[in-house]
Amino acid sequence: MKTLHILGSSDAFNAGGALHSCYLLSGEKERLLLECGPSVLAALNRDKIPSTSIDFLLISHLHGDHFGGLPFLFLEYSYRVKRSTPLRLAGPPGLQERAEKLYAVMYGKTLSDLRFELEFIEVHPDVDLHLGDFTIHPFEVPHNAQPFALGYRLIEGTHTMVFSGDSAWSDILLAQSQGVDLFLCECCTQEPRLKQHISLHEILQDRAKIGAKDLLLTHLGDDMRRMKKTSWAHAHDGLIYTFGAKTTN
Ligand SMILES: [Zn+2]
Repeated sequence: MKTLHILGSSDAFNAGGALHSCYLLSGEKERLLLECGPSVLAALNRDKIPSTSIDFLLISHLHGDHFGGLPFLFLEYSYRVKRSTPLRLAGPPGLQERAEKLYAVMYGKTLSDLRFELEFIEVHPDVDLHLGDFTIHPFEVPHNAQPFALGYRLIEGTHTMVFSGDSAWSDILLAQSQGVDLFLCECCTQEPRLKQHISLHEILQDRAKIGAKDLLLTHLGDDMRRMKKTSWAHAHDGLIYTFGAKTTN
């Protein structure tokens, strides 16, 4: 992986006016969009990223702020730009059904109306998958999503990263973070307040056990955004993290 482009760094509530979860990973040859929040097109257009440059989509769990942008992306590829290559869309079981329902409710259309080729791939915990040159290890994280919520460890080229998805703080995140270049970790609040999400307090308590070179906090809620500068790297919309560059913390 060469870069991670933060397209949307907010929690479900667009705290601070930031956009919903959306991250673009650029590999040597291919691009993977990690999460597809409802504001996906606003983010791509803001940062002048052609939507057709995305090869793969990977979704962590079936909450609207993480996959609710799919109907807009479907419209984009069907009516605004011409997508000539298939889109491979990977996520937990049920993603296809939810995407179909969402598209029907929002636009009265079915997936057979799409003017591009779409392939759904079901992802299961601990069953590795390959999307082009990206090797992805999914693992289950504690979060109230059906059928389950996933975190991902991703490898492409010589670099690795771990993404928490939405999760409560858990030893599995510490284990998965060992030896990676970057840990992109959700952090909604400063103090533990939400049972299904991570707080800065919990991360700081275990900071010595995190085995990633860099730690980047995202999915930031209101009180995280009100913080004065800290020694922890906070994502913000438009930030581009370069793998192999100097560490961020
Ligand atoms: Zn969630």
